[in-house]
Amino acid sequence: MAKLIDGWEVVIGLEIHTQLNTNTKIFSGSSIEFGAEPNTQASLVDLAMPGVLPVLNKEVVDKAICFGLGIDAEIDRASVFARKNYFYPDLPKGYQISQMDNPIVGKGHIDIHLEDGTTKRIGVTRAHLEEDAGKSLHEDFEGMTGIDLNRAGTPLLEIVSEPDMRSKEEAVAYVRAIHTLVRWLGISDGNMAEGSFRCDCNVSIRQPGDEFGTRCELKNINSFRFIEKAIEVEIERQIDVLESGGKIIQQTRLFDPNKLETRAMRTKEEANDYRYFPDPDLLPVRISEEQIQAIQADMPELPQARRERFIEAYQLTEYDARVLTLSRELSDFFEETVKAAGGAKNAKLAANWVMGELSGALNKADLSIDQSPVSAVQLGGMIARIVDNTISGKIAKQVFGFMWESNGSSADQIIEEKGLKQETDTGAIEAIIKEVLAANEKMVEEYKSGKEKAFNGLVGQVMKASRGKANPAQVNQLMKQLLG
Ligand code: ADP
Ligand code: MG
Repeated sequence: MAKLIDGWEVVIGLEIHTQLNTNTKIFSGSSIEFGAEPNTQASLVDLAMPGVLPVLNKEVVDKAICFGLGIDAEIDRASVFARKNYFYPDLPKGYQISQMDNPIVGKGHIDIHLEDGTTKRIGVTRAHLEEDAGKSLHEDFEGMTGIDLNRAGTPLLEIVSEPDMRSKEEAVAYVRAIHTLVRWLGISDGNMAEGSFRCDCNVSIRQPGDEFGTRCELKNINSFRFIEKAIEVEIERQIDVLESGGKIIQQTRLFDPNKLETRAMRTKEEANDYRYFPDPDLLPVRISEEQIQAIQADMPELPQARRERFIEAYQLTEYDARVLTLSRELSDFFEETVKAAGGAKNAKLAANWVMGELSGALNKADLSIDQSPVSAVQLGGMIARIVDNTISGKIAKQVFGFMWESNGSSADQIIEEKGLKQETDTGAIEAIIKEVLAANEKMVEEYKSGKEKAFNGLVGQVMKASRGKANPAQVNQLMKQLLG
């Protein structure tokens, strides 16, 4: 049963535009690098000079196929490009090359994980290739608009979902799953701040059991937090309209994150407003079995499969497996750490260190996992020293700290240099315990008169006296013996 808001059921379908990370544009040889001086990456094709012809970039097709295989979708063997005609100052051709009928990727699906521990399958209707438009620049031009055509012709994959989501949480979980997938597959950098991954949210509400209501489309949202907020305020708006006797008009709306409201941008155009027709400059894209098989053979293990394997091979909890597969880099790092730590039997400890101390330190330093100053081999090597009792877990935190600052020193080097090796020599530990007992007669009395707590106090004193280096298990055992 779907969660209702004031008795209303929410229906959400999403269109995600993800920029493919090719070297060059979809129909020209210009670079798609972000941040260049305006119009320095715009060829004659991107500038729409008369008579120039687009040439399809094969890498774009391969990356779209890769995505299709990643969501278990049908790949169209003869996908077609169409002209989507409209006027816009930053679209000098007067049309955008996109796909209408026969998109390259057909029906597929992706599973999302929900807060309550359940999984839900979301349908993907289609994913098609298209070119991005240029940019109109309004700042820096007094009374004028600047046109930058660097972005024109940047390859986009538009991923259209079924209206399968029933809450803002499900919508965000879906966007996250797609975001993880495209980065995992290495087909997009997913950089939301630079606009290479953006989302249109279609939102409607209905009374449970009714037909779908009229939807509004919230355009170009580029952060997870904004997606959630935009949907939230749009739902409130639609409820207000309907409950005060009004009607929802199908519209494209803009989310204003400052005012926390959505504003009408234009009434929704119909597909036939665009006069779609097959682009006569481009042949249908014939895709062979061999091409698909070659891409399939090159695909990495997918997040879902890797999660299941982590649970199976390393006895990780569902939660740990999920966190460790949030990105391919993180999950690769974890597996390397396990290997360096001595294999699957130490996987749980490795998971704790990767998700705990390491992630915490990376967060604090605002670094990503591939920028980690401590490598998987270093971390795994240190975990191996915890396991073989060379150091305690507590001392390991010190070792980790030194390693972080060290520029590549191994745990063994640091333990040696800083003299952090755990004291396991019975004689040496006994000597410390005896000193502590002699200096803490009162606590000893208390213990003997039945105060169990005093025992822990004494152990604490011994650990302190050994500067944390005495093996705690040995201290416990010897202390019991010595106290008789
Ligand atoms: P268009 O071509 O006009 O953009 P589509 O049929 O392709 O329309 O749908 C666009 C998106 O809107 C899809 O993601 C779809 O799931 C979603 N959608 C369709 N109907 C509804 C609805 N009633 N409520 C919410 N989302 C919807
Ligand atoms: Mg659409």
